[in-house]
Amino acid sequence: MSKVRKIRCEACGERVPSHEVISCGDAVGGYRDLCGQCFNAEVARLTGHDTFEDFRIEPVRLVDCAGETHEFHFRTRLLGHIVTIDAFELLNGSPSGYQCEIAGDPEDDLLGLLGRLVDKLRRMLSVKHITWENHDPQIAEQTVRGRIQWDDSAAGHTPLLTIDGREVSWEQFSRMLMTFEGWQFRLQIFDPTDEP
Ligand SMILES: [Zn+2]
Repeated sequence: MSKVRKIRCEACGERVPSHEVISCGDAVGGYRDLCGQCFNAEVARLTGHDTFEDFRIEPVRLVDCAGETHEFHFRTRLLGHIVTIDAFELLNGSPSGYQCEIAGDPEDDLLGLLGRLVDKLRRMLSVKHITWENHDPQIAEQTVRGRIQWDDSAAGHTPLLTIDGREVSWEQFSRMLMTFEGWQFRLQIFDPTDEP
């Protein structure tokens, strides 16, 4: 297992994994690195959500339709009028693989929101959009769901896609599309908290 880089929260002093830390503040007053729970407490204080109840969510393991186990980590963010929970796998200490997010009302029960997120993860894991026979990726049916991400190697000119929790380069994806030469397509973009 790779070593996870830890950063000390400037409010509670706890050392937390770097993916849990939020740098908040502004150029005038300076920035502070806060753990997720201290960040949420600060936002709750500033926005008057006194009843907001935060808790640390332990990692959950889920099995995909191919029988492979995925460990999901969670982050809760109170962002004023909404609260979000995102789920992700970790690779070398950074969020990677399957990622999923949900948004709700800060007054709602956080456990209920978490339950809906886990249901969403299960639906995500229940289908494979790409087959990798002999390392030759092909679109399995006629629908592909995924995430558009930054591709360092392409300097942002073309995206890196994550499909079935796996990285797919734009070049690989465009080659897969050529199986459908002459066919039509529809491309629809969704907010990260929606379900495509
Ligand atoms: Zn803290």
